[in-house]
Amino acid sequence: MTERQSIWVFIEQVDGRVADVSLELIGRARELADPLGYEVVGLLCGHEVEEAARDVIRHGADRVLLADDAELASYRTLPYARVAITEARRRQPEIFLVGGTPNGRDFAPRVASALRCGLTADCTDLQIGDYESRREGKTFRNLLFQIRPAFGGNLVATIVNPNSRPQMATVREGVMRMPASDASRTGVVEAVVPEFELGDFALEILSRQVRHSTVKLKDAPVIVAGGAGISDAEEFALLRDLANLLGGEVGASRAAVDAGWIGREHQVGQTGTTVRPRLYIAAGISGAIQHRAGMDQSSKIIAINTDPTAPMLQIAHYRIVGDVGEVLPMIIKALRERSMDHREETE
Ligand SMILES: Cc1cc2nc3c(=O)[nH]c(=O)nc-3n(C[C@H](O)[C@H](O)[C@H](O)COP(=O)(O)OP(=O)(O)OC[C@H]3O[C@@H](n4cnc5c(N)ncnc54)[C@H](O)[C@@H]3O)c2cc1C
Repeated sequence: MTERQSIWVFIEQVDGRVADVSLELIGRARELADPLGYEVVGLLCGHEVEEAARDVIRHGADRVLLADDAELASYRTLPYARVAITEARRRQPEIFLVGGTPNGRDFAPRVASALRCGLTADCTDLQIGDYESRREGKTFRNLLFQIRPAFGGNLVATIVNPNSRPQMATVREGVMRMPASDASRTGVVEAVVPEFELGDFALEILSRQVRHSTVKLKDAPVIVAGGAGISDAEEFALLRDLANLLGGEVGASRAAVDAGWIGREHQVGQTGTTVRPRLYIAAGISGAIQHRAGMDQSSKIIAINTDPTAPMLQIAHYRIVGDVGEVLPMIIKALRERSMDHREETE
């Protein structure tokens, strides 16, 4: 039983491999917990996943609550939620963070609803701060500031939950930084015994098919992304040429995805992937806040746009005011010539 106040993270795993987003949240929880003296706790459900628990400790957790049971081998809403609800009622965490993945989005509302504590989805930042409630005439100390775009991204809302616990939030993969793994870190792996109820097994998994996407947006060092400023699928193919030349991946705005030029797995932004490449080339993308939320942490941004007032040009490190149909072929030609010169020099 833990005595200290704690920040919990729901640890997602598939076949014993911990999801990146869970480790990212452990890293952020560590940063939030240290000034407050709180404990960072991972809640891990699975079967024979002890090594995953150790991985969570290596990434910054003090303790892992490990529910190991054959019934928990694969994610199912009710058994997983049962473990979380039982343990949260018993141990009263201050904060409970969940990855904004398909399973996390399924799990978090059920747990929040059972605990009657509220939930903020898709936070883009988490901070600790004091909140002065004029209505209640008092100041609440050390609340979780749950920060996320609201009203279609036209404002950034800071949401607090002064009156119920835990303060629950989901955060999408890639928003928080991945902490380094430290093999010398030690922590406690504490077994918890699930207290299932009969109704928890309403759903039975008959078979499982794992589909691996070949799109590696999140880890790409270079992303060449296109938006509605690209005029057709043929012009979109130029992005692939440029990405290949730079050893990168193709990204897209939602407008380009909606136009059917490229699959949804390439979408960058609030409802797509969050990326931090070394170089992000935004071709014909206006820079709506929902797109910027997914790429504005890129080390270097090059924007190509015909409109000199486009928001993307305002955040870019290098701005090219021009037509993508003209600029992209020029860049591709220059890169090809350079690589030919280089080859001739080395022959
Ligand atoms: C809840 C919500 C979630 C959303 N999530 C996302 C998300 O995850 N990702 C995302 O991208 N969007 C998202 N959106 C949509 C977002 O608001 C924008 O509509 C979208 O990003 C616009 O895409 P775009 O910049 O390609 O298109 P536009 O805004 O139409 O911009 C096209 C740009 O191309 C320029 N242009 C036109 N012709 C040329 C040319 N020949 N050469 C160069 N430039 C040219 C124009 O000047 C313009 O700046 C979301 C919206 C909502 C409400």
